[in-house]
Amino acid sequence: MSARRILILGPPGAGKGTQAARLVEELGVPHVSTGEMLRTAVSAGTEVGKRAKAVMDAGRLVSDEIVIEIAEARLGKPDCAGGFVLDGFPRTAGQAQALDAMLERRSTPLDCCLALTVDVETVVERLLKRAEIEGRSDDTAETIRERMKVYEDQTAPLLEHYRGMGLVREVDGMGSPGDVAGRIGEALG
Ligand code: AMP
Repeated sequence: MSARRILILGPPGAGKGTQAARLVEELGVPHVSTGEMLRTAVSAGTEVGKRAKAVMDAGRLVSDEIVIEIAEARLGKPDCAGGFVLDGFPRTAGQAQALDAMLERRSTPLDCCLALTVDVETVVERLLKRAEIEGRSDDTAETIRERMKVYEDQTAPLLEHYRGMGLVREVDGMGSPGDVAGRIGEALG
């Protein structure tokens, strides 16, 4: 598996976090999740956390300005020099442009954009189950619908952007996490 700078794209609940966790274990690179960083900021009560909380709870997107800043800071850390698995960033055209520009400046382009495809009904079920288990305040039926809409409107178009760069490898995200991991292994193979 030669890809080391990997972006996982897919709707909320597609299993991006689960698959990213497996990949980072396998590749020995950091898992860069803006959602996780934002949740940490909210718990810690930082300035960023205070600004982000209400937006996250409503299932909407935190501003590009905030997210680009935290993603760039994270990707600039030495442990990302050997690669990373990006999960949940970029989510808008502006974020994708900022990421492209940053990676170009460093001559470290993305190797691959893994696009997880799933059935939306299944995704909603997964999210509701996760809401029960993890008690995430942004996983209610209403916010799940909002997050799906935001994904369709703002994030799904990024697939075309990365397709144009020849980076997209589509992977069927249905089935057990092990099955999906197997397909990702083949896609990266
Ligand atoms: P996630 O864990 O990736 O599903 O992210 C949880 C929430 O954090 C999202 O619903 C957004 O409110 C916010 N968030 C995470 N990443 C981003 C991003 N790249 N751009 C804007 N908001 C984000």
